[in-house]
Amino acid sequence: RTNHWDSRPQPRLRRRGPTRDCATVWVHIVFSCCSSSSPLPCFLLQLSHKPSKCSPAQIRRLASQVDGTRLWETHLRPILIERLPGTQGSLAVQQHITSTLSSLSADWSIDLDSFQSPTPRGQVTFTNIVATLDPMAPRRLLLACHYDSKVLPADPRAPEKVFLGASDSAVPCAMILELATSLDAQLRTFKQQRLPVSLQLVFFDGEESFEEWTATDSLYGSRHLAERMANTPHPAASSHATMLHAVVRKLQTQSHVL
Ligand SMILES: [Zn+2]
Repeated sequence: RTNHWDSRPQPRLRRRGPTRDCATVWVHIVFSCCSSSSPLPCFLLQLSHKPSKCSPAQIRRLASQVDGTRLWETHLRPILIERLPGTQGSLAVQQHITSTLSSLSADWSIDLDSFQSPTPRGQVTFTNIVATLDPMAPRRLLLACHYDSKVLPADPRAPEKVFLGASDSAVPCAMILELATSLDAQLRTFKQQRLPVSLQLVFFDGEESFEEWTATDSLYGSRHLAERMANTPHPAASSHATMLHAVVRKLQTQSHVL
């Protein structure tokens, strides 16, 4: 693991109750969506997907596996660095996310979706990280966050200060990593069962604008991935379905939601 954050001013981290509450909601969503099946065509299932129910006891048992200390110390701290697209900080966070997911027994398929795009600051390289539990599953439940931090104008009174973007959006990334870690054994079992709905984790790059938020200066990573998915056939779903047809739910985990 890198130690970039050690030399920088540390933000005050407080452990708050909502972390566990969010984990309960997320566990419920993941486990209720992973178990449904139907003979309908993929694109109709995408529109008509009905999650099955978990009992309160099942939800409590799964949520109790979330480890708040690991969430903050192991998953979050390495992300609390400046991580502008195409920089060393971004690369360090990419490595943290991919090495965390690679270390799990569920054996995630990890795809680095790198591309270049013009921005108000010139041509920039962006990298989305897409982890899929079972790439052969006809449909996916997609959990997404963005890991890039925002460029802020330099403060002449504190030129060394950098914007870490803890709640926007390092914490959602850490929550997704903790979810995958704490539920690793159950997710491995899901994968072995070859269920029709699998889990896909997306860590978007380039959500933030470089200057003013506009249709072209924002959401670089999600615009690119949506276009790529819409143009990539998904034979596991049906002969004329794309990767975008396979997504049954899209959840945004930005600070604005949390
Ligand atoms: Zn944001």
